[in-house]
Amino acid sequence: MTKDWLRDAGFETLAIREGLSTGSEQEHSDPIYATSSFVFDSAEQAAATFSGEREGNTYSRFSNPTVSVFEKRLAAMESGEEGVATSSGMSAILTLCLTILRSGDHVVCSKNVFGSTVSLFNNILTKLDIEVSFVALRDLREWREAVRPNTKLFFCETPSNPLCEVGDIRQIAAIAHNADALLAVDNCFCTPALQRPLELGADVVMHSATKYLDGQGRVLGGALVGTADLMTQVRAFVRVCGPSMSPFNAWVFSKGLETLHLRMQAHSERALALAQWLENNAAVKTVNYCGLVSHPDHLLAASQQSAFGGVVSFEVNGDRKQAWEFINGVRLMSLTANLGDVKTTVCHPASTTHGRLSDEQKRDAGITDALIRIAVGLEDIADIKRDCERGFDSIKPR
Ligand SMILES: *Cc1c(COP(=O)(O)O)cnc(C)c1O
Repeated sequence: MTKDWLRDAGFETLAIREGLSTGSEQEHSDPIYATSSFVFDSAEQAAATFSGEREGNTYSRFSNPTVSVFEKRLAAMESGEEGVATSSGMSAILTLCLTILRSGDHVVCSKNVFGSTVSLFNNILTKLDIEVSFVALRDLREWREAVRPNTKLFFCETPSNPLCEVGDIRQIAAIAHNADALLAVDNCFCTPALQRPLELGADVVMHSATKYLDGQGRVLGGALVGTADLMTQVRAFVRVCGPSMSPFNAWVFSKGLETLHLRMQAHSERALALAQWLENNAAVKTVNYCGLVSHPDHLLAASQQSAFGGVVSFEVNGDRKQAWEFINGVRLMSLTANLGDVKTTVCHPASTTHGRLSDEQKRDAGITDALIRIAVGLEDIADIKRDCERGFDSIKPR
């Protein structure tokens, strides 16, 4: 519950103050409750706490004060009533699905979502007779036409990875609600610092906290945010099934949230500068960044995001050979598929993050062999550009 003096607080204040314990001679940085269980004064108190009559912690699979700080803070930042933390982004999606879906239900999901999300829907949920239809993120008609009488959940990720396509959250939410289904948005790429899907009509926000919420590539975690009613059901699942967040990781994430707005602004500024620079480079065929006026989703992105995030992708002139020569030529950027780190990372989606897709699926998703993705970190932008020049200089003449 938000404290009185935080009730009308701005985003940046909530990011720093929400969830913090207050009291005299209290640690100014919330402590890490590194404990699996909690003790009681009496049998009566233990019974009342276990039954839920009295508020309190019993066992860290159920709840932990350090994890609660992160949950409260993230929920406030997403304009949600409550949040539930999980051990990873993937366990957040699994938790959501197993909380609201049952065998025989149907899900509509945008194509081009995170690879493991596709596998979860295609390979795991199908074992429970939960069916999924994949639709083009921007094609509202496809969303509408995918609806069946048993559709219970819409799921999308916007902007998409790595092409930075944008889905219209307001419109997709309207179609979902018309079908009595919930809309969940994976808000990993924007974070609440740039986009708040619940304010646009979504019912649930899902996070891989592993990425920008931490921001320094240190720990794994996830979260769901939504109404108190839905989060009570989500919490009941986590309590029994155990995809709970570790207190240490929660402490790291709460610290990350304190600076999230500054980092997202800085990631976005650098990514825009890099995208504009790439657009004017003769060695580049196309640039995908929704912050560019030339991007087909620029206006939509500007209507639901306050900036455009840190991920830029582009095609070099040529093919896989030229893309790999670029990647092998850079020195500063880390060659890894992770993103959301202060360290800039570079990868070749067609042979890494999207390597398991068939040629047809890749073509459908716009993942060509010439495509390179850069998750722009917080180094000096001049050094990031210089590193790209090193990459371009390494491309041998054809
Ligand atoms: C990384 C990622 C996930 C999965 O999160 P984990 O914390 O790795 O389990 C889900 N969605 C997106 C968009 C991601 O980038």
